Amino acid sequence: MAERERQGPEGRICPWCESADIRFVQRGYAGPTDAVDQYLVCGACQKTTYEIVAKSSREMRLGRYKAGDVYQDRAQNTSYSISRILRAGRNEFLIYLKPLAHRASAVL
Ligand SMILES: [Zn+2]
Repeated sequence: MAERERQGPEGRICPWCESADIRFVQRGYAGPTDAVDQYLVCGACQKTTYEIVAKSSREMRLGRYKAGDVYQDRAQNTSYSISRILRAGRNEFLIYLKPLAHRASAVL
């Protein structure tokens, strides 16, 4: 299994343009960002890549998210597969995402 995302921020690259020029924001309420999502921001292509997104129960019902399904981020024009969903609290679910990189144009 290629578990590249298990490495520290140094090992991460942008899945869309493969740049290593990324800023990693770790989910956590204790840090300065107060982030509920975990993501990378690429300095080269400016895309935000989500690793974990937090949803309320209502959003989960509306989105009908399931492990194995495709998660679309229309704001970024990116898509992911949902690797797993964890319940994090009474009204919070965490969706773990794997980027589905578009490689059709990457033939050299
Ligand atoms: Zn990029």
